[in-house]
Amino acid sequence: METILNIKNITKKYGSLTAVKNLSFTIEKGHVYGILGPNGSGKSTTLGIVLNVVNKTEGEFSWFNGSVSTHEALKKVGAIIERPNFYPYMTAVQNLKLVCKIKGVSFNKIDEKLEIVGLLDRKDSKFSAFSLGMKQRLAIASALLNDPEILILDEPTNGLDPKGIHQIREIIKQIAVNGTTILLASHLLDEVEKVCSHVVVLRKGVKLYAGRVDAITSSHGFFEVQSNDDTEMIKLLENNPSFGDIKVQNNLVTAFLKEPMKSEDFNKLMFENNIILTHLVQRKESLEEQFLQLTDHQ
Ligand code: ADP
Ligand code: MG
Repeated sequence: METILNIKNITKKYGSLTAVKNLSFTIEKGHVYGILGPNGSGKSTTLGIVLNVVNKTEGEFSWFNGSVSTHEALKKVGAIIERPNFYPYMTAVQNLKLVCKIKGVSFNKIDEKLEIVGLLDRKDSKFSAFSLGMKQRLAIASALLNDPEILILDEPTNGLDPKGIHQIREIIKQIAVNGTTILLASHLLDEVEKVCSHVVVLRKGVKLYAGRVDAITSSHGFFEVQSNDDTEMIKLLENNPSFGDIKVQNNLVTAFLKEPMKSEDFNKLMFENNIILTHLVQRKESLEEQFLQLTDHQ
């Protein structure tokens, strides 16, 4: 696993208000991460901090394992954290040429990136003639010009109509399929479910959950386990009707429950089958339940 970004115990205070509190998470290459939380939960502040546009109060973050300075690292990051802002009287391609000059990228990337966002046939239209969805897509093309390792988007579908929302989500998924890591902030559970593989849930600047999105679909929760013999353990779990999906990632086995089970019973079941657990965590609440709880408090 290649680490793109590591955030450790970040806190941001605006006077007496704590916008982000002791936040830690890691972004690994190749996944699509969502920062999910209601308005005011600290999503944009978090993105601003790692992009060096907001000063953190406490904590640390490092890009690419700290192999380069933040300034250098940010050259490998594509970010859209504001409303798309281009010259209205210039065409899409003229605007992108300007971005190429600023970023020191060759013009021959322009058509490729316009193609990705479905604007190649509108390259000679003025920015002012674009719908909000097209403006947002042009911003994505612009952020991709330097072939970033990671694309960061803040509420990428806000204000768009359903068709525009769908287009943006499909484009993000396609960019991810092509190997670019993605971090997006959203207040929409549905968006994160549809687009992201991993999620960090925030409420009032505090992390409630960080993990895979597919845990959302697990209504009885799941066990995260490691043992002295994972191969044997996985076989056992796959043949046990109490379990649905079994997933393995980073040597951690996640077994989703199809019916309730206590961790002590799980432990006993494994032990009776000669498997010694070295790690056992049970998560009972699905992400959906947690998210509903947090929106209740609004
Ligand atoms: P989100 O993006 O999740 O909606 P933000 O990160 O924008 O949340 O905001 C988190 C909290 O910090 C909110 O309470 C917001 O009002 C506050 N905040 C954000 N920016 C500033 C600022 N520049 N000055 C003071 N308070 C701010
Ligand atoms: Mg925001």
